[in-house]
Amino acid sequence: MKYNAEVVGIREVSKKLRIFKVKPDSPLGDYKAGQYTTLGLAGNEVRVPGAQKEELSKPMAKRIQERAYSISSPIFEEGYELANHNELDYLEFYISLVLTGKEDHSPYLTPRLFMLKEGDRIRIGENISGDCILEDVKKDDNVIFISTGTGLAPHTTMLAELLRNSHEGKIAVIESNGYADDFGYSDQMGEISEAYENVHYEQMITSERENYFMQDLFKDNVLEDKYNFDINESNAKIYLCGSPFMVGAPDLRNGKEIFHI
Ligand SMILES: Cc1cc2nc3c(=O)[nH]c(=O)nc-3n(C[C@H](O)[C@H](O)[C@H](O)COP(=O)(O)OP(=O)(O)OC[C@H]3O[C@@H](n4cnc5c(N)ncnc54)[C@H](O)[C@@H]3O)c2cc1C
Repeated sequence: MKYNAEVVGIREVSKKLRIFKVKPDSPLGDYKAGQYTTLGLAGNEVRVPGAQKEELSKPMAKRIQERAYSISSPIFEEGYELANHNELDYLEFYISLVLTGKEDHSPYLTPRLFMLKEGDRIRIGENISGDCILEDVKKDDNVIFISTGTGLAPHTTMLAELLRNSHEGKIAVIESNGYADDFGYSDQMGEISEAYENVHYEQMITSERENYFMQDLFKDNVLEDKYNFDINESNAKIYLCGSPFMVGAPDLRNGKEIFHI
């Protein structure tokens, strides 16, 4: 396995959040909004100071290890055109730095990724896959994207795709983070929700409101009341990505789905 791509852009959102643009040496082919691929670096690449101590054997130092990353979208291209992910010559990734893992396992890739500069080489996976896509969404469906942290990544690409295809139903993008600085796409999301009447954007900042979770937006009918947003089984599609507890994903208990609301 060799490096086959170049880092062509890095935007620092916060100390622990970055948006990377990676240009493959050869085009990877078309993919669907919501899908993911992998990024990889060799063990002998430098790691950020402060990362959990790591011991790699000599052979592992030369090997490239990869991790999966959802492909995000800049949402706009220059001139406020909606980005078409299949026409860009780079892939965008929204990545959070993990400094500590388990006692016997130090985080491998992100401490190395966060040392990269524009122009550096990297490995990008040649297969793009993932089933969490817009396949079954009808033009007038109401679509809700719920995410925490970098879970927003696939939703940015799906949102741009829906809007490029003149989606007629309502779209709510709801993301939750600890602090106001943690919203890497808030400028784009603000512009989109101003420009498109059918798009609603909601930020939840957990440090500002204790014990308020995304599922409370449903329990308290916030979406329905604030945005006149009809949510029922036949016309709503809900995409969840991020911490399962925070986004209100159901648990399976004795074969039954239990919702924490
Ligand atoms: C389909 C898919 C899509 C993904 N998309 C994204 C994405 O868009 N952006 C993104 O940042 N990550 C994404 N991830 C997570 C990513 O693959 C890595 O797991 C993550 O970047 C950590 O990699 P690492 O090599 O630094 O740590 P690892 O060596 O993989 O893991 C170290 C330890 O940290 C824990 N850990 C993993 N991720 C986190 C985290 N975010 N916060 C705290 N602890 C963590 C693990 O449980 C493990 O114990 C995705 C994962 C999958 C499966």
